[in-house]
Amino acid sequence: MNILITGGAGFIGSHLAERLLENGDEVYVIDNLSTGSLKNIEHLIGHRHFHYAIDSVMNEKRMDALIAKCDQIYHLAAAVGVKLIMDRPLETIETNVKGTEVVLRLANKYKRKALLASTSEIYGNHVEHKLAEDDNRILGSVKKRRWAYACSKTLDEFLALAYYLEKKLPVVVARLFNTVGPRQTGQYGMVLPNFVQSALLGKPICVYGDGNQTRSFTYVGDVVDAMIGLMRCPEAEGDIFNIGSNEEISIKDLAEKVKKMSNSSSPIEFIPYEKAYGLGFEDMQRRSPDITKIQGAIGYNPRYSLDDIIETIITHFKG
Ligand code: UDP
Repeated sequence: MNILITGGAGFIGSHLAERLLENGDEVYVIDNLSTGSLKNIEHLIGHRHFHYAIDSVMNEKRMDALIAKCDQIYHLAAAVGVKLIMDRPLETIETNVKGTEVVLRLANKYKRKALLASTSEIYGNHVEHKLAEDDNRILGSVKKRRWAYACSKTLDEFLALAYYLEKKLPVVVARLFNTVGPRQTGQYGMVLPNFVQSALLGKPICVYGDGNQTRSFTYVGDVVDAMIGLMRCPEAEGDIFNIGSNEEISIKDLAEKVKKMSNSSSPIEFIPYEKAYGLGFEDMQRRSPDITKIQGAIGYNPRYSLDDIIETIITHFKG
């Protein structure tokens, strides 16, 4: 099958490209290298079933030609990373909204099946329970610019479901919960690569806020398998699925765990949010998925525990 991955030179996209090539697919990647990097796909360049274009998904002509020849589209191209979103809100909104608009319009023109990669961020600030797909969203003030990311991705989801409803476009939405693994950089704020790199270098491990906020981390290989499973599942069309893990940990405990597993002597330091992100920031105190729905749909169960994940990332950074 011919498959297009937007954002295919990104951290998740490059792992997906690898897996699809293993499956025998013809893989086409488009990426503007804003947060992606050629380094992520350098081992795939030269593979006879791998093709890549360095361009924006907002280049309609280019996208038209690519979508015309592909059977399926994984739409991963987006502005991601809390730090990037805080620093460049305009780019975040434009890329996420306009980019998805182009992808879905052209997918509809050729009636190509699409998977939209969305995010757990859209749930906002819940604390009481694990997040299920039909939960309400609790978002902060418009003055807190972090929420621009959640709003832009929410609009993408609405658009995808509208295409399904009104145009019968086969489309599925996947909400990813803190995907981690090799090739993810700490450059845009992601916590695990930052902690592991600091621990290995003996530099302070910087916990933002009081560290009681929790997250559930999912290994990129598990996420990629889940996305492929959803794409292959006709019953998933027109619906939304969490992709995540049941293991929840506070950021403070994560710092301790990384320090221990990497035999590091780094101190753990607590940094106020304003210092880490500047003004206009609000964190999510808890983020953990209910994965019952995807388990029922495709028999998904993450294979990597948090310890496995940290081990893999330590090995990756040790080179
Ligand atoms: N965080 C941290 N130190 C870092 C980077 C992030 O303590 O160097 C915190 C961040 O404030 C958040 C959590 O770790 O509470 C996860 O951050 P990340 O940016 O990885 O993902 P998020 O879940 O916020 O999208």
